[in-house]
Amino acid sequence: MDQVVQIREKIDIVSFISEFIPLKKAGHNFKANCPFHGEKTPSFVVSPERQIWHCFGCGKGGDVYTFLMEYERLEFPEALRTLAKRTGVELINRERNSGLATQKERLYQINSLTKEYYHYVLLNHPAGKRALDYLKNRGISQKIIETFMLGFAPTRNALTKYLLSKKKFAREDLVASGVAFQRGSDIVDFFRGRLIFPLIDHRDNVVGFAGRILDNNETTSKYINTRETLIYHKGEQFYGLNITKDAIRRENQAIIVEGEFDAISCFENGIANIVAIKGTALTEAQVNLLGRFAQKITFCFDGDKAGQEAIKRSLAVVEKKGLTPTVIEIPVTEDAAVEAFMSFKMTKQVIHNFMISAFFR
Ligand code: ZN
Repeated sequence: MDQVVQIREKIDIVSFISEFIPLKKAGHNFKANCPFHGEKTPSFVVSPERQIWHCFGCGKGGDVYTFLMEYERLEFPEALRTLAKRTGVELINRERNSGLATQKERLYQINSLTKEYYHYVLLNHPAGKRALDYLKNRGISQKIIETFMLGFAPTRNALTKYLLSKKKFAREDLVASGVAFQRGSDIVDFFRGRLIFPLIDHRDNVVGFAGRILDNNETTSKYINTRETLIYHKGEQFYGLNITKDAIRRENQAIIVEGEFDAISCFENGIANIVAIKGTALTEAQVNLLGRFAQKITFCFDGDKAGQEAIKRSLAVVEKKGLTPTVIEIPVTEDAAVEAFMSFKMTKQVIHNFMISAFFR
């Protein structure tokens, strides 16, 4: 209980809520249109003195925890973990030890250990050597590998064995997390022989993984993703946002590319306000999420028909939410590139960096 109070006292509720919705000073308090019910005159009030919020329209209210739980639809343990991270308070892991963790929490733990495991194999185990060479050949540096926690899933059933016998997780939780699946009476690793991109949400929860084959000639799908689980919903995620959200906020612009490698190469080339979409067109949930960090949403998709169709459908969603969409076409020549980027009023540095990455593809 002490930790809950300790964390709450470290956060000023006015600046905290301001990160989600714009607050206006009104006497001693701050006001806003309530984010939890539709309204045109503000009845959502935040009190800096009492460090609470209350809506006189829908009756909801509480402290920083309840705000975050309502706004992000979190359970209490997730909200606690998020705010602990933010305030630098080291949580004593009581849920896990007392066996009271919700299944959601257990899935986060499984995914987090899986991320560490694959990362370790990539960097330190002979099984990861080929994947490591592959990344180096694509110009991905050690620093980027570490920043994005890239990994390698070995071919044998090593992860499942590790999580069952060393970490004592239950089989049904491994299957529920999507890192393993049932085959006959056994459970086996879902990702085998693939380069791994952990999908981490903006609150630093590992929600799933994308796995890419190393050899394009293989007959299996180039990419596979964690299926929809209790904690992974494809239409609500962006790849990279956990790393790039500060840059996106700073630039007030998010550049959206299609694939994991596109995002990583742009980042490597100095474009930090970048995310990759998981899926084809933007969903409302995704636009709401990005809208919390930036006003400008810029698409940089492939020139093929599928890419252009996806942009078309996404533009409508972005405009509906009152954000400003722009589109960058992947330039074919250097002159075309300069012209394309100038027309979007990007800074020279951004243009320069972007050209490097565009030609890198
Ligand atoms: Zn309300």
